[in-house]
Amino acid sequence: MKLEGRRESSNVEDRRGGGGMRLGLPVGGVGGIVLILLLSFITGQNPLDLLGSLSGGTGIESPASDPGGPPAADEGAVFIRRVLASTEDAWTQIFSQSGQQYEAPALVLFSDATPSACGTGQSAMGPFYCPADRTVYLDLTFFEELDRRFGAPGDFAQAYVVAHEVGHHIQTLAGLSDKVSAMRQRSGEVEGNQLSVLQELQADCYAGIWGALAAQEGLLERGDVEEGLRAAAAIGDDRLQRQAQGRVAPDSFTHGSSEQRVEWFRRGVENGRLDACDTFAAR
Ligand SMILES: [Zn+2]
Repeated sequence: MKLEGRRESSNVEDRRGGGGMRLGLPVGGVGGIVLILLLSFITGQNPLDLLGSLSGGTGIESPASDPGGPPAADEGAVFIRRVLASTEDAWTQIFSQSGQQYEAPALVLFSDATPSACGTGQSAMGPFYCPADRTVYLDLTFFEELDRRFGAPGDFAQAYVVAHEVGHHIQTLAGLSDKVSAMRQRSGEVEGNQLSVLQELQADCYAGIWGALAAQEGLLERGDVEEGLRAAAAIGDDRLQRQAQGRVAPDSFTHGSSEQRVEWFRRGVENGRLDACDTFAAR
């Protein structure tokens, strides 16, 4: 991708390093325990889970986050901020075509584990979007895995992953996430899984729409779309989410086949319009 000199999003929060919260408060001692009980009360999470997520991070090789300081300048963080900014620009443009205002999601960079409104996010789950706090959660080490384990290297493959999670945010804004969870509660396991697959494929298609606009903006290089297609094929959510944990990982029950994922991503790229991504109607 050609992202040099492009705008960086201000919606990225860096929680790498201490594996902790942005509060930057000491976890040990009485103050820490009070803090954990308080957080547990606020978030409704098990205090032991919170303790694990607050103190569990080793943060090896990750730059420590500096709450209130300048944003991390490492290549990975800058790249993510630029990709997120390009999704913001794309969706702002698409929403404005129908007179709507786009509310961008937040994105949290973390290492190992971090609290979210959907429960504790763990690196092993792969990237995920939490509708309850409208935030994408991402551990950058996932991209090494994407390269080595899943054979999908390249910066566009990484950007595609971010764009897919932003696709889930678009579904939340459209009220679809709520609708699908309600439908899933009423349906059996098989139908529930089918609904999830349709939701995933739509997020792939939305990632394709972003890809189309990124191409128009001159952000793509030769071979980028192929990189994205390879990533779409390589990362069925089933393969990403080795450690499914209930609602913490909305993607964990769900996967389209590689072929389906490629098809819907391509459809988004080629049409560049929301109505081309109605996976539910296509059923
Ligand atoms: Zn997904």
